[in-house]
Amino acid sequence: MNELVLTLRQPAQIGDRAREDFVLSTLEHVPGTVVRGAFAASWLARNGVSAAGTPERAEFLRLFEGGVRFGPLLRPGTEFLPLSVVTHKYQAKETCTEVEFDRAVTGEAPLRCPDCGSPLDQVKVLRGDRPPVRRRTSVSIGESGVARRGVLFTRETLEVGQEFRGSLVADDPALLAVLAGLGPVRVGGRRTTHGQAEVSIRDRGDGRPWPAVQRRDDGMLVIRLRSPGIFTDPQGRPSRAPDPAELSEVLGTSAHVVHRWTRWQQAGGWHVASGLPKPAELAVVAGSTYVISTERTVSDAVLDGLSRRGLGLRRHEGFGDLAPPPVLKPGRGAREQEERRLRALMDAVAPLRGVPIRFPEYWPPLLAAMTAHASGDPDAARRLRAVAGTSPDPAIGAALRKFLEFSPQDAAYVAGELEQR
Ligand SMILES: [Zn+2]
Repeated sequence: MNELVLTLRQPAQIGDRAREDFVLSTLEHVPGTVVRGAFAASWLARNGVSAAGTPERAEFLRLFEGGVRFGPLLRPGTEFLPLSVVTHKYQAKETCTEVEFDRAVTGEAPLRCPDCGSPLDQVKVLRGDRPPVRRRTSVSIGESGVARRGVLFTRETLEVGQEFRGSLVADDPALLAVLAGLGPVRVGGRRTTHGQAEVSIRDRGDGRPWPAVQRRDDGMLVIRLRSPGIFTDPQGRPSRAPDPAELSEVLGTSAHVVHRWTRWQQAGGWHVASGLPKPAELAVVAGSTYVISTERTVSDAVLDGLSRRGLGLRRHEGFGDLAPPPVLKPGRGAREQEERRLRALMDAVAPLRGVPIRFPEYWPPLLAAMTAHASGDPDAARRLRAVAGTSPDPAIGAALRKFLEFSPQDAAYVAGELEQR
């Protein structure tokens, strides 16, 4: 999976629907449709509109009409929350067992928190700190190009320096190199003076897509949209949910939606070659969530394939991108569970606690190797394995081998705790 990072070098106004009150507001993220439009405009500015049958035309089609999928870009620390999540309407208390429920995972949620009585409400879809937004009011310009007397309008812009990140999926890595070479691009409105953004494309290195499809304990799958989705029923009418035929085809077994949380929105878009707007059609919003039942168990590889592919129509235009499971605010239950988990980690390496007393001269280099391993030093893992193999006490060797199985975060926690004693 590759990550696209856009960094604003000019203020940007994303989303172009003027409201009734003459405020041209900005979105706080960059939709995939806008990302694709920005790259396509940059390509056309360099290469012009190419004739059918030319290699340039073929490259354009591979980049923007099927070979690349552009996910939405979000500011670090913000995320779309699924519509299936409910949270405390009023501030949760320390004693609340749960603060938030994801009904797609837990089934029904109570209407009120059983501990404090606060109503549980649907969350705002885009969660996180709001970015700095500048508002500037000026005279409205009519269609004839003349200022309309007494009519003011306000334009919101995102400030310079904001960073936006999201996924980019390409059939062929060479296409990513072409896209990286198209930077800087311009996003949003007023492109002559606004929206210039630097482009960086990073390989996330793990070779896997974002873990987007969640498998419930009972075998049901939970799929959440990270961008608006466009679905139709077999008669071609707008639908709130993916068609069973599409699900069954991509999952390789009979599949259908058993629960859904969705909301409609209008989806526009631009025909990138001509620069003309596309007719608006109905889409479901980012955050729409589906619980899906399958006839047979679906393999991890097939779920990875679905995460890469997305769902619904116009996917290469930025629709139908899938989101990983949400990070919910932990309640007392989750905090206590995490404390128990961390205690179990310390118990698993308990024999190491005796090393500073029994073998004081070996302790500082051993602790240093554990800390280095936690921060990703591959040579440290080799040294720890060597110590584990030659340790005079087999229990110490076993504890070190357990330590090597921990995630980097857990290894850092355990090394830190051992250092403090
Ligand atoms: Zn509560």
